[in-house]
Amino acid sequence: MTGKSSPRSIVVLSAHSGDFVWRAGGAIAHAAETGAEVRVICLSFGERGESQGLWADPDMTLETVKIARRKEASEAADILGAHIEFLDLGDYPLNVTSSAFDEIVDHLRRAEPDLLLTHVANDPYNRDHNLAHETLLRARMVAQAQGHKTDAPPIGAPQILMFEPHQPEMCGFVPNLLLDITGVFDRKQRAMQCMSAQQHLVDYYTDLAQRRGVQAVRNGGARSIRYAEAHQRVFPVVSEELI
Ligand SMILES: [Zn+2]
Repeated sequence: MTGKSSPRSIVVLSAHSGDFVWRAGGAIAHAAETGAEVRVICLSFGERGESQGLWADPDMTLETVKIARRKEASEAADILGAHIEFLDLGDYPLNVTSSAFDEIVDHLRRAEPDLLLTHVANDPYNRDHNLAHETLLRARMVAQAQGHKTDAPPIGAPQILMFEPHQPEMCGFVPNLLLDITGVFDRKQRAMQCMSAQQHLVDYYTDLAQRRGVQAVRNGGARSIRYAEAHQRVFPVVSEELI
């Protein structure tokens, strides 16, 4: 894939059911608007570790939290224009079983993605996020293998974008893509509003998008950019052009 082509099929691997909204909602909406098929796989609901708002109710149960989180994330995905599925593998800690891993590989084969999105490799605060990263890289490797036989053929070499973690400097996150999400930011905001269990993050990620937007202009983007999302590529971009 060159740096200037538009992806047609994207798979997003989200450790918990809110992560894709906060960190990649703009990228998802942007891709969906340009006609890409976007599929989000949530490894867990974040039911134990990332549902603070719901646990404020003393009568809350794990099953009720999962139901609420499924509903919120499904609504958010709908607004962003993505398909979504949930593997319900548990959180804090996340446990990717071998059958779930095989399911993810099959998913990649069927989707034939030209772009993948997930977490950074090393977040010292959230090892579930690291496991999602490692799982996607391993699943990509297996899905590429000629000797791994399924009904679908091996995939190519899709780029992986790591979306921005909550404390980027602690995770060694160095963005090399500032994506203009000004045109879809209203959709990201509506998707964020769906996540009632984590409403404390809405202002934070709105401010972050504004700061990244200022930096996008500073880096040569159009002056009309007001909101941006930071991502970091895992692999080099292949291009026929010098710039
Ligand atoms: Zn998370």
